[in-house]
Amino acid sequence: MNELKRKGMTLVISGPSGSGKSTLYHAVAPLAGGIEFSVSCTTRAPREGERDGVDYYFIGREEFEARVARGEFAEHAEVHGNFYGTLKSELSGRTERGADVVLDIDVQGADQLRQLAREDEAFRRTLEFVFIAPPSYAELERRLRARGTESEETLARRLANAKREMQCADRYDYLIVNDNREEAADRLLALIRSLRLSLKRMNPGDLIS
Ligand code: 5GP
Repeated sequence: MNELKRKGMTLVISGPSGSGKSTLYHAVAPLAGGIEFSVSCTTRAPREGERDGVDYYFIGREEFEARVARGEFAEHAEVHGNFYGTLKSELSGRTERGADVVLDIDVQGADQLRQLAREDEAFRRTLEFVFIAPPSYAELERRLRARGTESEETLARRLANAKREMQCADRYDYLIVNDNREEAADRLLALIRSLRLSLKRMNPGDLIS
């Protein structure tokens, strides 16, 4: 039987800071294979251990604004007082050649991509939206404190934002509650494997051609 070629998906993952989304998809990506991360631009300062070009492209505000003006972003937003954006160049071509692209972006960015997809049928077919939620607000606060990367001020801001972001969860197609890391990773892996079976991104006619 011919191997049925499929287009890749653009898997948008959102969830409050501290929901554990980045740990989750980094655990799942090697198991799923064929996943490529979209590296965002940010004006936030790098945290210890973060690498430029791997975790983010760390750029200044001026450069960020210049890139906005040149139309280089597929979406961009201000989150927790810093700017973040997905470069069009991080997306183009990858799903065409069958790679699945994961975007870790906030709810505003996800809204902008939904908007873009309205006018772009091919892009719409690639899109899938997953929301990762913490089991409770108290657990979210505990995790953010344990991470130790935030000052009291940025912690308070991230917690306030978390409440707002949770209210947007119903705009997504899939929800994973990250109560237990292994179980949540299993669910994300199962979801990715299922989404790879979607006929939206296949042409079954290829099977008999
Ligand atoms: P952090 O500073 O903790 O790395 O990320 C803060 C928030 O910014 C997270 O919710 C993350 O999903 C979001 N974020 C990261 N990159 C992007 C991006 O390119 N666009 C948007 N809209 N949000 C992003």
